[in-house]
Amino acid sequence: MPAKTDRIEIAVAGAGIAGLTVSLCLASQGKSVRLFEKAGTFTEIGAGIQLSPNAMQILRRMGLDKPVEADAIAPDAIELRVGSSSRLLASIPLGDTCRERYGAPYLVIHRADLMQVLLDAARQNRNIEIIRAAEIKDVRPGADDVSFTAGGEPFRAGLLLAADGIHSSIRQSLTGQSAGDLGKTAWRASLEDPAFSEMVSARRTGLWLGKAAHLVHYPLRAGRNLNLVLVGNREAAAPHFLLTQFHSSVRTLVADAKWTPWPLMHVDPGGDWLSGRVAFIGDAAHAMLPTAAQGGAMAVEDGFMLAHCLRSSPGRPDAALAEWAQIRKSRVSAVARQAKFNLGVYGLSGPAAAARNLAISMIPGNRHLARLDWLFGWQPE
Ligand SMILES: Cc1cc2nc3c(=O)[nH]c(=O)nc-3n(C[C@H](O)[C@H](O)[C@H](O)COP(=O)(O)OP(=O)(O)OC[C@H]3O[C@@H](n4cnc5c(N)ncnc54)[C@H](O)[C@@H]3O)c2cc1C
Repeated sequence: MPAKTDRIEIAVAGAGIAGLTVSLCLASQGKSVRLFEKAGTFTEIGAGIQLSPNAMQILRRMGLDKPVEADAIAPDAIELRVGSSSRLLASIPLGDTCRERYGAPYLVIHRADLMQVLLDAARQNRNIEIIRAAEIKDVRPGADDVSFTAGGEPFRAGLLLAADGIHSSIRQSLTGQSAGDLGKTAWRASLEDPAFSEMVSARRTGLWLGKAAHLVHYPLRAGRNLNLVLVGNREAAAPHFLLTQFHSSVRTLVADAKWTPWPLMHVDPGGDWLSGRVAFIGDAAHAMLPTAAQGGAMAVEDGFMLAHCLRSSPGRPDAALAEWAQIRKSRVSAVARQAKFNLGVYGLSGPAAAARNLAISMIPGNRHLARLDWLFGWQPE
């Protein structure tokens, strides 16, 4: 533990995607950061994450795109299928198309591999001190600093960046805002040595639209794993029930999957992101539904932009935080709306689902992609 009486320049709560990204971006400007992580060891659940070009643009500026790409797969396309019949509705090109269109790839990677790249970079940076088994509590923002305890010891910092995730106890204690529940569950599983086929490919991401559920799958670790996410209503209770409506090729493939339920919660991005010298960042500020695959990407964008705003307003941290929150709120709110819209569209049934399928199948794949230019083509100023 560092000396308790020191005033820390910048403290960060939580070594997730948001906390590590913002720490690295600040440290690259020569600022010293103490990163407090509640957990005693760094573990990541066995699941994948999609990294869209907007996130990869930032990781490139941080000099981390190459190590991330080394562990990732760049799928050729996202294929949308009718869950019950397996009929292909659309194939949205990714691969080289994304690199050419956005100057950055669309990747899928095991979360543990992504976290390892971020953690290695943080551990090698002498401006970052990582303190594990140190939960931040009793946060009291003052006029020009903030006091708190970590691992039971008292600290003071010029700034505290609360990157403590969707169930942020810091956000709850300072703003009273807690995460909302939509009554949906994401069932996650990872298959080892999956039996790939034309429909479930080691080179493509799949999105199957069922009656009351949708299934996303993509390969990980050079195709040794297949990541599965099945989203449905919580009362449907079990994935095997949700899967009865899916085509036999999918049911057979996932028959041995060991599913872990993940209740889908969200945090309204319109809430408070600042409380004096405390800023909420990543899921702590705006956890969103996974149906745009953007929560982690927003955490990466947040971290880069927060460091950028602090550099642009030297000696004026309050102004920098206010500017950051204002810039980020409009972007993040638009992305959260897209995720909510997708959830609604994926969950249609009956004639509405038939109309949706017709509309999707009539649009060429590259036009589907072009409709996401605002999201994937985002560049920091
Ligand atoms: C099913 C599913 C699929 C998803 N797929 C994608 C995807 O494909 N692409 C994408 O971009 N996003 C995706 N997301 C979203 C993404 O996982 C999250 O947005 C992202 O992980 C949030 O990172 P974070 O750093 O803000 O929070 P977290 O990852 O939750 O990290 C918070 C950290 O803070 C620590 N902590 C908590 N409290 C304290 C405290 N008081 N003091 C110190 N430390 C503390 C925790 O131990 C943890 O390490 C998905 C989410 C779900 C649920």
